[in-house]
Amino acid sequence: MSNKKLTGLLVLTACGAAGMALAQQPAPPAPAAPAAPAAPPPDVKIETVNIAPGIYMLVGRGGNIGLTVGVDGAAIIDDQFADMVPKIRAAVALLAAEPVKFVINTHLHGDHTGGNDGFGAAGAVIIAQENVRKRLGSDSVNANTGAAVPARAREALPVITFADQAKLHFNDDDLEFTHLPNAHTETDIVIRFRKANVVHMGDMFVGGFPFIDASNGGTLDGLIRAHETVLASIDNDTKVIRGHGPLGNKAELQAFHDMLVVVRDRIAKLVRAKKTQEQVVEARPTKEFEEKYGGTNFNAAQWIGRAYVDQKRALESRRGK
Ligand SMILES: [Zn+2]
Repeated sequence: MSNKKLTGLLVLTACGAAGMALAQQPAPPAPAAPAAPAAPPPDVKIETVNIAPGIYMLVGRGGNIGLTVGVDGAAIIDDQFADMVPKIRAAVALLAAEPVKFVINTHLHGDHTGGNDGFGAAGAVIIAQENVRKRLGSDSVNANTGAAVPARAREALPVITFADQAKLHFNDDDLEFTHLPNAHTETDIVIRFRKANVVHMGDMFVGGFPFIDASNGGTLDGLIRAHETVLASIDNDTKVIRGHGPLGNKAELQAFHDMLVVVRDRIAKLVRAKKTQEQVVEARPTKEFEEKYGGTNFNAAQWIGRAYVDQKRALESRRGK
């Protein structure tokens, strides 16, 4: 794949002060491990779901992948784990003659970017919000386990980054990337296929209670705002790809958003009344939603605990201003 060909296909636009930047080559490559899971790869098959002409959702292990195939070739949104790369390639090869040209990352997490090393090394151009490159390019600590997380290999880093918005004109559609700040993380984008009327929301929309990754800049208030931005731009026919879980639609995103608003407001009220985390968990502000959203990522008590910490921090930061 020649660079000349790529230049012809890729037109990026940006708005906002910082705009889009072609990332500089990083300083001397440091040895680094990709975000491969510790366990050996289980026997996982990729299920390919056709959701619009030339657009597919690939379900395997890790985040749901969006795939577009057509006259310009193949591009994927997210790439699961490192050990899934051969299976993802095989699934794409059933639909496209050439290898993946572009990988778009919805956000930084390893179950969505673990395949970056493999696809990047094979020549795919990785595109992401600039905080993905910043976060993946530096050593960090896992907030849950305290384990050191080394910076990712240079092949895994996005080479085209942007601050607020960008577009990829590919397969006769316009893919619009919009940064939604401090939502699931500080690195999230929503990807919208303007003509096909498909959006990929990454982990801002999942099947259960959402993970708010505070250590990577995520906030509950930001997540709710992100939903409002997306809801205002889609219609009842829009196909909505969740980060995890079945294909969704606007009504389901609206219900997910409304649930979060109810629970957030209840927790915020209890925080303002100076209740402790234990008391807030006991009050079960998620009560009527637990059957539908509980039992996926978190049980209700764990999730409320995280949301309590989030809302306490939000209140303190409002008071500090
Ligand atoms: Zn995530």
